[in-house]
Order: sequence, then C-alpha cells, then structure tokens
Amino acid sequence: MGDVKLEHVTKRYDDVTAVDDMNMTVRDGEFVCLVGPSGCGKSTTMEMVAGLTKPTEGEVYIAGTDVTNYPPKDRGVAMVFQNIALFPHMDVYDNISFGLRLRDYDKDEIDRRVERAADIVQLEGMLDRMPDEMSGGQRQRVAIARAIVRNPEVFLMDEPLANLDAKLRVHMRTELQRLHKELETTIIYVTHDQAEAMTMSDRIAVIDSGQLQQIDPPLTCYNEPSNLFVAGFIGSPSMNFVDGTITDEGFESENFAVEFDPDEFGVEVGIDATLGIRPEDVHLAEYRESVTDPSATIDTITDVLEPMGDEIFVYLLLSEDAEIGMEAEETSDQLLMSVDPDSTISEDERVDVVLDRSRVHLFDTASGEAIQHGLVKPVQAEGVTETEAESDD
Ligand code: ADP
Repeated sequence: MGDVKLEHVTKRYDDVTAVDDMNMTVRDGEFVCLVGPSGCGKSTTMEMVAGLTKPTEGEVYIAGTDVTNYPPKDRGVAMVFQNIALFPHMDVYDNISFGLRLRDYDKDEIDRRVERAADIVQLEGMLDRMPDEMSGGQRQRVAIARAIVRNPEVFLMDEPLANLDAKLRVHMRTELQRLHKELETTIIYVTHDQAEAMTMSDRIAVIDSGQLQQIDPPLTCYNEPSNLFVAGFIGSPSMNFVDGTITDEGFESENFAVEFDPDEFGVEVGIDATLGIRPEDVHLAEYRESVTDPSATIDTITDVLEPMGDEIFVYLLLSEDAEIGMEAEETSDQLLMSVDPDSTISEDERVDVVLDRSRVHLFDTASGEAIQHGLVKPVQAEGVTETEAESDD
C-alpha cells in the first residue's frame, strides 16, 4: 500500500511560507502531478514527502504510517530529479545497482533486480555502457532504473524531463505512463508544464502560493476549474476572462451580455462576476447553427492571426467604439478565438462571434471562486417523468 497523505502540512522559511496548510491524499497506485508556477511550493511539498525537508507544522503519512520524523531511507520512497546525477566513472550496471551494493544485497538478487529494471526502461544490452556514451533520454532512463531497483512503494519525480529536448520529452511521457502501468506504484510527479500533467496523470494537484487549489482528474480541472487561478493555468492557450456583473437578465459586461436566468442557477444578482470562455468555445456567428447553445451576437474586430496548422488563433478586439486598425491597448476587452484552418478570416476585419453558453464559466470576481460552469440546464424530454427516463435503457 503506497498511499500518501499530507495533513495540514506547512513549511515556513523565515518570512516565506513555501507550503501553506496543505491537505492532500494520493491513493495507492495513483499517478498524481503537482503543477503550478515556479516558486508555488511543488518541490518543497515533494521534499517533505521524501523526508529531505521537515514540515514546520503538520504530518506526512505513507501507507498509513506517520513518517513525519522518519529519515528518507525508511520511507519506502525513491526520487528521480531533474538533474540526473549518474556516476561518470561507472557503467550503467554499476550506476543502477549502486544503492543495492551499498546495502549489501547478494549478487544474484542485485542481478535479478537490475535486469528487471533495465528491461522495464528498455536499457537491455546497454548495461556496460558509460554515461558519456548515452543520450540524455537514455541517461534519464538509467536514473529511473536506479529508482526501480529499490522496489519503492512511492516514486517521487521532480521535473525529471525538464532537461530533455521537446521531442524526447513527449516520448518519455509515454514511457513514464507505460512504466506506471507496469509497476502499479504510486507516482507523485512535479512539473510546471500543464500539458505534461494533462497527458500523464490520473489526477492533477494545482498549487498556487503554497496552497492546494484543486485536485481532480485532468478533464475535471479543464471543464470545471474550481477558481480563476486553475481556469487560467490549465489549458493552452489560456481561457478568456471578461469582467462584468450579474443582472436579472444574466451576465453583462461593457461590450456584451450573455443571457441566462440567475435564479435557475442560484447565481446572486448584483455581484461582480468574471466570465470565462475557452478559445475553442468562441465561434463565428455564421456557424451559430452548429453551436450547442449560442449567445447573442458580439461585434468584434480581428487583430492578430496565428495559424497553427490544425487551427488558427484569432485575437478579437471588443470595444463600444471599436474601429478597424485600433490597437489592442485602446480596447476594453479582448477574446481569443480558435477557428478552422480553412477559414478565410483575415486581420483588421469586422466579425460577429457567439459564445457557446453551455461552455461559459462564471467566477466571483472578488473571491475568484467558480460559481457556475455552463449556462444551459439539461433538457428533459417533454412528457417523460424522471422515473420513466431512468428506467429507459
Ligand atoms: P517550486 O518547486 O514550485 O518552484 P519551491 O517549493 O522550490 O517552489 O519553493 C517555494 C518557495 O519557498 C519559494 O518562494 C522559494 O524561494 C522558497 N524556498 C524553497 N526552499 C527554500 C529554502 N531552502 N530557503 C528559503 N526559501 C526557500
């Protein structure tokens, strides 16, 4: 059992609170990524699980045991760091087996474990290579094999792919997922790269300023972000945000309104609200027929276009007195829209767009907390009662 639990864990360095009252449970066998901007406390959290840093307050449990005061070697964890520290004068076999030899394991057991680990990370046939005869990706695999031979209950990985080039990083992501499937071990993985977290994890723990913001499966973080920080951090390019207020008719900002009945969703009238909409949920009004639940038309002017190959990002300027050729700074709001690569849209053009109301997010501007995801209630077929609908399979 390799579940990891942090209970009210805080770490202070003089006047810096690196981790602030963190409560988190990582289940046995789960792959959880800790994500957040640089300096948000990811590494410090990891070091406290590993036993390299002692919490100022709170407890760390591994497999049900309070390990807060245990040294690293007694915690059943193995760490893989960003900077791969292989011994340059030792071949792969000696590098992988170093820890086991130090602990006086017998030769057969060491051979068995090294062979299995080398097999898992696909380094068979390379055991007599020296580190300087290997690529960055191969060296990182040696570092992972060195962690595997210890049969840890929990793997802790701190940006292990950060020093690899982009192509290799994508390849190693797949390898790490395969490794996780094979070992069925708990993995806690630190990254500042939200795409890495989205693709690999069972759940993502989003951290900001030492505080846990949300821990959920990647798509839940994407579709139902708990607050403005998560909404802006998860997804690339970022979600659009527009400030406004909630009125009896719905959301109203300087340049557009999105109608809905606040009572129906229990949204308080009169509060300052921030509307969030992802670029893929902003559509050209001419295609409104294909949008799940289009808002009223919004007049915009196109600014910069970014063709990406499979889509085009279009920066839209919104202003009451919007004029073609005006600068982004002169407008009150902007929206980023993603359109089909075949679109004939050009820069400095007036275009009407609509938002998919089923994909609109609303946040309380003051607290940043999410108040509503989607402004469309599921429609129940007319004349069908709930019981009938449920039994109808
Ligand atoms: P991340 O891994 O998310 O980049 P860290 O956990 O490394 O963030 O750091 C969180 C905060 O704690 C930062 O403000 C950092 O400067 C501070 N910090 C980390 N380690 C120490 C230390 N040993 N002494 C003082 N401050 C530290």
